[in-house]
Amino acid sequence: MSDTIFGKIANGEVAADLIYEDDEVVAFRDLNPQAPVHVLVIPRKPIPTLNDAGPEDAELLGRLMLAAAKVAQQEGIAEQGYRTLINCNAGGGQTVYHLHVHLIGGRPLQWPPG
Ligand code: IMP
Repeated sequence: MSDTIFGKIANGEVAADLIYEDDEVVAFRDLNPQAPVHVLVIPRKPIPTLNDAGPEDAELLGRLMLAAAKVAQQEGIAEQGYRTLINCNAGGGQTVYHLHVHLIGGRPLQWPPG
């Protein structure tokens, strides 16, 4: 199953600015960046939302976070700091229904987010 744009990026059907990939995880630059560094880290497995992740996905979720930290190092923002976040469903701001972690940094970030 790869019915979303992110599924198509994960399987190579659609081009993206890929900056990291391994057997389970792909990371690419957001098309509409909200900060100097804005990367999306996705599983190759098409899990629609965080609500759909199960106990069998526990290791995969950990891999997503470790990949985000690795990309933060690659991008040179690890020491200054950055944010990782997952939007879940429409009320949480999710627009693409393939689970993804936003990695945002390279500028001062406000809290709370809007
Ligand atoms: P969401 O709102 O948490 O679902 O985040 C979806 C993100 O995907 C948004 O920040 C969009 O700018 C980004 N986006 C949508 N389509 C593409 C694409 O084809 N390539 C890269 N980023 C995309």
